[in-house]
Amino acid sequence: MAKYYFVTDVLEKTDTPSVFKDVHKIGSIPAYPGIYKCQSCGYEDVINRECEKFPPCSNCSAKKGANTWKLLVQATDD
Ligand SMILES: [Zn+2]
Repeated sequence: MAKYYFVTDVLEKTDTPSVFKDVHKIGSIPAYPGIYKCQSCGYEDVINRECEKFPPCSNCSAKKGANTWKLLVQATDD
């Protein structure tokens, strides 16, 4: 589970919750940088602004094959 400490300084509740409901396949193009959660094993990983495609989950790809990702914390520019 993602953790935080200074919540009021770093986290803001979004008014676009739909981006957190989308499921992303390996190889698709990330629309937002941030922390994503593997829907197979729950592993959390960072997709940064340089990432051109969602990678396979490094925690479960060897065991389970294809996985999907969901956005957990969206990084912003402001
Ligand atoms: Zn996984």
